[in-house]
Amino acid sequence: MPDPAMLELTEIIKEYQVGGQSVRALDGVNLRIEPGEFTSIIGPSGSGKSTMLHLLGALDSPTSGSIRFRGEEIGSLDDERQSEFRRHRVGFIFQFFNLLPTLSAWENVAIPKLLDGTGLRRAKPRALELLDRVGLSERAEHRPSELSGGQMQRVAVARALIMDPPLILADEPTGNLDSKTGASILRLLGEIAADGNSVVMVTHDMGAVEYCDRVITLRDGKIGSDDAVTRKSHDDAVRA
Ligand code: ADP
Ligand code: MG
Repeated sequence: MPDPAMLELTEIIKEYQVGGQSVRALDGVNLRIEPGEFTSIIGPSGSGKSTMLHLLGALDSPTSGSIRFRGEEIGSLDDERQSEFRRHRVGFIFQFFNLLPTLSAWENVAIPKLLDGTGLRRAKPRALELLDRVGLSERAEHRPSELSGGQMQRVAVARALIMDPPLILADEPTGNLDSKTGASILRLLGEIAADGNSVVMVTHDMGAVEYCDRVITLRDGKIGSDDAVTRKSHDDAVRA
């Protein structure tokens, strides 16, 4: 028996009901995502990218079909188990960082631990370690307003890692960054994948695709193409 994939989607259909009509956002998606892979999902607006990311992160359930995480069905979990899955297995990274403005960088990183019942003080050493990992150890006490966009996204990456989730989902993580800063975030995501995690990123940025191992194109809720990419600047990542 082969090892179970990090994620395995089988015949996924997702329909939304709008004003008595049904909109099919995903239309028969089959997909395996392995540990160690940095995957990007591209496609025109309305092609189903966000819907896909929501299903991968158990933010929503498919209308039909199966989503297995390491062999375990997550598509039909009840709300409580879905949120448990999200808290412990998934790190989310957003275009606009979603940091809390009144908290310092390290406190923002520690937030998922607080939500899980760990006190701030106990979460601090790990938060500082992760800020160091993303190259921000000097900025631990800074508020988001005192950080650049790239630095804010690094804080958000550290926050996504604090529960040690094997799956990282990123929605346009470079959408609000200049290309050089974006590249450094993409290299960081590549390193996180290379550590044995799965990173899945939705992007409009064709330049971002070069930093991935794989690019999936969605078209009208179907997989249009699924290609291996030779990752750019892995050597840069090792040198940096
Ligand atoms: P993308 O992220 O690629 O732009 P989406 O996944 O957001 O695409 O949307 C796919 C399709 O599903 C679109 O036709 C969109 O209008 C529809 N859709 C997405 N979310 C909802 C929702 N919450 N309710 C109704 N329709 C939705
Ligand atoms: Mg979208």
